[in-house]
Amino acid sequence: MADAHTDSPLLRMAVPSPLRRSFHYLPPAGTTPEELSCYQPGIRVRVPFGRREVTGILLAVEHNAPDVEPSRLREALTVLDEEPLLPAHLLKLCLWAADYYQHPVGEALHSLLPVALRQGRTADYRGHHSDRAGSDPEPPGETDTAPPLTDEQSDAIRAVTEAEDRFDTFLLDGITGSGKTEVYLQLINRMLESGRQSMVLVPEISLTPQTIRRFQRRLPCRMAVLHSGLTDRQRLNAWLLAARGEADIVIGTRSAVFTPMKSPGLIIVDEEHDGSFKQQDGFRYSARDLAVLRAREEGVPVLLGSATPALETLRNAQLGRYRHLRLRQRPAATTASAPFRLLDTTGKALQDGFAPELLQMIREHLQRGNQVLVFINRRGFAPVLQCSDCGWVAECSHCDANLTLHRTPPHLRCHHCDRRRPPDRHCPDCQSGSLNAVGLGTERSEAVLRACFPDTRILRVDRDSTRRKNAMQDLLEEIRQDQPCILVGTQMLAKGHHFPAVTLVAVLDADSGLFSADFRGQEHLAQLLLQVAGRAGRAERPGEVVVQTRHAGHEILTTLIQDGYTAVTDRLLEDRRDAGMPPFSRLALLRAEASEPDAALNHLTEAREMARQLIAERRLPVTLNGPLPAPMERRQGRYRAQLLLRSPDRGHLQRLLTPLCRHLETTTQSRRVRWSVDVDPQDML
Ligand code: ADP
Ligand code: ZN
Ligand code: ZN
Repeated sequence: MADAHTDSPLLRMAVPSPLRRSFHYLPPAGTTPEELSCYQPGIRVRVPFGRREVTGILLAVEHNAPDVEPSRLREALTVLDEEPLLPAHLLKLCLWAADYYQHPVGEALHSLLPVALRQGRTADYRGHHSDRAGSDPEPPGETDTAPPLTDEQSDAIRAVTEAEDRFDTFLLDGITGSGKTEVYLQLINRMLESGRQSMVLVPEISLTPQTIRRFQRRLPCRMAVLHSGLTDRQRLNAWLLAARGEADIVIGTRSAVFTPMKSPGLIIVDEEHDGSFKQQDGFRYSARDLAVLRAREEGVPVLLGSATPALETLRNAQLGRYRHLRLRQRPAATTASAPFRLLDTTGKALQDGFAPELLQMIREHLQRGNQVLVFINRRGFAPVLQCSDCGWVAECSHCDANLTLHRTPPHLRCHHCDRRRPPDRHCPDCQSGSLNAVGLGTERSEAVLRACFPDTRILRVDRDSTRRKNAMQDLLEEIRQDQPCILVGTQMLAKGHHFPAVTLVAVLDADSGLFSADFRGQEHLAQLLLQVAGRAGRAERPGEVVVQTRHAGHEILTTLIQDGYTAVTDRLLEDRRDAGMPPFSRLALLRAEASEPDAALNHLTEAREMARQLIAERRLPVTLNGPLPAPMERRQGRYRAQLLLRSPDRGHLQRLLTPLCRHLETTTQSRRVRWSVDVDPQDML
């Protein structure tokens, strides 16, 4: 029986499984050689796996499988597709990504497919018009016309157009409001004229109906919109429209980078510095970096746009790998950038977090009939509830973290595991009744402003106030009424929207970013300040930006204000070079967690020994740092540890990670320890 099969070609399959390998199967019973010769990599095949039946992706038809005994080979069940679901270029990219990010190939491919296709359903478009993802189609006639371009815009468009039909990477480095989106629109329009598709990747927070409408008003075309809020059917439909070339624009958040396209012509990544392009769990890929690789595979240009490019991207531009296009000016019809100033709060008595001068400025702007934006990057009423007699602080019982006090409705909440409980009335340690809310969140800022400006509308914008469906739309609608009001909010206000009637932007606390445990803290602070500042103002009402700080002399803040973002990034790049940190090195973070205190650390100590051996054997320039407890060691009741791996070169890091992960996979006996690897980690905490 077994021998009869050894000559038969075998199907090498990617199967959804946590194992970092592929699996061989015999072709389905009765498959003819002619049929077999038509099987292309990228088609789906139903196969038995353990006691289950799963959908796998064919990787290759091969004649031998050195790692399996012929007698143990099982037969595949059904071939589901005639044409590959994933075209060759895309399949290659996905395999590269699974390899590079050290993720099991079957799981990686599986996670990229719309749910219906994972389940093995046929890849057919069904449903009525409203299922077309996103698309309230605009009534005809409501189209915008293109403005005449500025010289800088024309230069940028010319540079990208000259790269048509071949791979090249461009950094479109332009201050907020300088017309980057206008550049995208005109480039996409050229693609439309030549019958090519464009892919636009945007950060999670900015894929709003406004964004989509802006594209739709300008471009008479079919769009496939992909984001996490779609039903399975909508997602499948959008995916198929893109795959068949029936959608001219594919616009979506990070996972959209894996959408098949029939005739791609251009890839755009907007706000390329945004952290949401990196997936933080499971298959931890960077959609921004994969967009560049995809463009290379497809042989098309890719445009990375930002007002505040990431240091990695700037470094690539400095090295000449990316072509640096700049938009330094806003188009004349719009407005100049708002001037920045620091408000030194050292030694000043603050009124619940607000300097008296700031409250006075807010008053003046409101009196002139304008709107004010107050930015504070913390939800809730106060980050700490403390006993003023003994110093007790309300902490989460499952995390190394304080509980945040919320007022609407009153409760204590952990922002890391989401556990909630009623606020204490008495100190559990000394029974004192004097418990104090310490520090400032959005709810408290809102309350302070209500007390100071009882006749003014105050609109709070954070994850809590916008949970209800359409809540954000309603808030934006209200802001657009142009009446004097104060917007208080988190980074939901910092991105994606423009508020033309806002003339004062106040940042309540810039200091946590200056002294963050994350080595990217200062880079992120500079980006955030410029992004918030960029929300405001228009031609006839220029804005101003005030930043409250106790460190008004800090070099990063003074450099940003006097010399701008480029001066800050030059400075930060020097620091990174001195410290040997990215972009002057490559990192990978090995994480482990367990419910017992030392298990995760012990596991990583073993991993370090294994890594040391591999480094010595293969003479790899990789340094190891740790293992150490994670900055927040206990989270959701589990103890966490991490081991940092660093190398000047990503190839060397890969030569260590691949055998190391295989080894960890086979030696992780204890199911009590969960481990993962994060290549090019963004979030180090
Ligand atoms: P960014 O994407 O860089 O923030 P946008 O493309 O959104 O900038 O442009 C900001 C504003 O300026 C928009 O209202 C846009 O319509 C307008 N605009 C862009 N380019 C021009 C131009 N060449 N002439 C006049 N207005 C322009
Ligand atoms: Zn007490
Ligand atoms: Zn918690």
